[in-house]
Amino acid sequence: MTEKTVSQTKTERLVELDKKHFIHPTTPPKLQAEEGSPLIFSSGKGIYAYSSDGEEYIDGLSMLWNVNLGHGNEELVQAATEQMSKIAYASAFKGFSNEPAIELAEKLAEIAPKNLNAVFYTSGGSESNDTAFKLSRFYWEQKGKPEKRKIIALHNAYHGVTVAAQSATAIPAFHHFAGSNIGEVLHATPYLTECELGDKSHPEYERSIRHLIEKEGADTIAAIILEPVQGSGGVHIPPEGYLQAVRKLCDEFEILLIADEVICGFGRTGKMFAVNHWDIEPDLMSIAKGISSGYSQLGGVMISDEVRQVIVNYDGVLSHGFTYSGHPTACAVALKNIEILERENIVDHVAQMEKVLQDGLNYLEEKHAIVTRTRAIGLLAAFELYKDPQENVMFSADVQPAAQVVDHCFDRKLILRALGANREIVAIAPPLIINKQEIEKMISIIDDSITAFTRSI
Ligand code: PMP
Repeated sequence: MTEKTVSQTKTERLVELDKKHFIHPTTPPKLQAEEGSPLIFSSGKGIYAYSSDGEEYIDGLSMLWNVNLGHGNEELVQAATEQMSKIAYASAFKGFSNEPAIELAEKLAEIAPKNLNAVFYTSGGSESNDTAFKLSRFYWEQKGKPEKRKIIALHNAYHGVTVAAQSATAIPAFHHFAGSNIGEVLHATPYLTECELGDKSHPEYERSIRHLIEKEGADTIAAIILEPVQGSGGVHIPPEGYLQAVRKLCDEFEILLIADEVICGFGRTGKMFAVNHWDIEPDLMSIAKGISSGYSQLGGVMISDEVRQVIVNYDGVLSHGFTYSGHPTACAVALKNIEILERENIVDHVAQMEKVLQDGLNYLEEKHAIVTRTRAIGLLAAFELYKDPQENVMFSADVQPAAQVVDHCFDRKLILRALGANREIVAIAPPLIINKQEIEKMISIIDDSITAFTRSI
């Protein structure tokens, strides 16, 4: 058999086994079980991922917005190997600790906003947000205000899928899945800056966070959670002044502010953390994904000095924690990941690449009448596809224009993601190490894909 036939036969076998035994996340299970043909990744290098049948794909979304240093980074592999051969896992419960977890905690305190100097480790983003909710409630309990329990999140938010995180997530399919909402999470409309600053005559005032606080009573609300830049909800960059307005609101009503930096953190937006763009300090900050570039499963909640003080004054046991909180191998990888980010000035590189990406999006918007609302902050970007952008007319719901364009890109070996209620938004978030030529190559593939879509309708 030729090499190609051997790999084809192996792939066919894997596809059959996948259909039979593997229930996939965020995938239509019936389709997958019956006719699924998963793309099986077997290796990667830089911005490229290779499938088991030997095809090369540009990873235009860094897989799940997380493989920030790109694939096949040998230094990260080495960091994991070295730590595993010393001690792969050690508990952080009840007085145990380990070197990488301690060193990483110090490093995180150094690079995070000034007031955030302690971390509670988790294994990912959802766990981080659940932890942030519990720590918020615990904080208010300790402050003698146990009735401050509710969490306010924003429409369109994605905060994960564990039961509490799912309740904060406002993308309907996730929010309602298996009827698993805890109920004490409320939602407000994002970006009503004037309302949050107190303009009650604004026509949308009743949908603002401020109105929700007044309606529910500030004495019932523990925290507001938001993504500084919404990711899975469609890559929405807040207007100038919005995050500062929410920070002020939190101070006015004594509510904690949780920044969910799970996608944005560690350089994705051209600053180490997205909150740095607006110079705000959250009380709690959820991190995951880019902390380790996806090479190890790690997340955490960064904790303000004020909240930390309340926690360390507690006489009892902090009865919260995961087996993998402070996982030594995961932390060693994250330490190396941050070392590389700093050594190679990757965050500055991302800030420079933003212009290249935005120029490419501008070119697409000029060339194709259906392209609109292009946006990029660092290497987190999107554009939308409208039937008539001038008149604000969307394609009918069944068209799902972004899904179609993403399919055309996939045929041309570029992986992107379609988002939005009508699948009208194309998201782009390549590995942070991408260079100018590679961005231009992506834009050229997207260009051809939009042309193919336009011809097909
Ligand atoms: N918060 C945000 C902003 C996210 O984008 C995600 C995942 N995409 C999560 C939380 C959940 O993270 P995880 O999937 O690691 O639980």
